[in-house]
Amino acid sequence: MLALVAEDRGAGAGGRVLTAAAPDGDLTAILERVAATVRPHLGEGRVAGYIPALARVDPSRFGIAVVTVDGRVATAGDARVAFSIQSISKVFTLTLALAKVGNDLWKRIGREPSGSPFNSIVQLERERGIPRNPFINAGAIVVTDVLLEGRSPGAVIDEVLEFVRYLADDPAVAIDEEVARSEAETGHRNYSLAHFLAGFGQLKNPVESALSVYFHQCALSMTCVQLARAGLFLASAGRDPLRDRKVVRPERARRINALMLTCGHYDASGDVAFRIGLPGKSGVGGGILAVVPRQGAIAVWSPGLNANGNSHAGTIALERLAAEMGWSVF
Ligand code: GLU
Repeated sequence: MLALVAEDRGAGAGGRVLTAAAPDGDLTAILERVAATVRPHLGEGRVAGYIPALARVDPSRFGIAVVTVDGRVATAGDARVAFSIQSISKVFTLTLALAKVGNDLWKRIGREPSGSPFNSIVQLERERGIPRNPFINAGAIVVTDVLLEGRSPGAVIDEVLEFVRYLADDPAVAIDEEVARSEAETGHRNYSLAHFLAGFGQLKNPVESALSVYFHQCALSMTCVQLARAGLFLASAGRDPLRDRKVVRPERARRINALMLTCGHYDASGDVAFRIGLPGKSGVGGGILAVVPRQGAIAVWSPGLNANGNSHAGTIALERLAAEMGWSVF
């Protein structure tokens, strides 16, 4: 990140600095109402049992946070409890990879919804090692391979962590080593995907290096407040509005949002676009980051997953909140 942020320093620096965001009573009342409506659904759905360290999480937890582009913060429930962000990390590594290689990334990864489960191998074989998009596992592994060029896995893991800490404006963001280890011990699907990619000549670094980065990024542990803050640049044309500093160019932020809208919810992305109408990225830890352009970012967490692997209560909460606020990109 350091490169990304350093490159952007000075591009508009010196403006308003508003790092300590202020609480917002009205929005908090709305979030409390949303939390009350989803309460009957808490505990429905299943936690991601295929990652042993996640299987122990209480499925009835629920937290939601909104951080607005003018620095207001509203929360309800467990919004300050850290959880495993899992695939939401793919938004941050994609941002870093685009900063590193620009549009050359699209020679190695597509930009189409996959219509298949996030860890499916069938499509990858048919399409000869070019993953459909950067948010399915195969695509995210290619993204880590890009980040690894000329660098060690440890250096890339540090870079990702520092970037997310910077975006969240919180040095307390951490990687849960137990979750990373748990995935490394049981991630047979991901090993298969990575070996398949390597078999097609689509990985330049060893499978172990790409997966070490991938498992660690998925093991980033964040609260809803930290996550919403970290996603705020996407709501603000690529600028961190609270530091008044550029993170990515406006066109790039627009395109990351487009990918989140079309590919961010596994093979339920179309349904989520229909029901909620906001760019979003979910993870099997039960988190969802959603972007409301020009307004703010929302993070919601509830570990019980629906059949598509998206947070069951989290999806309902986002649907209610978007409807109540009139938030949609359409
Ligand atoms: N680490 C998880 C896996 O690779 C991420 C899946 C997800 O959140 O979509 O299986």
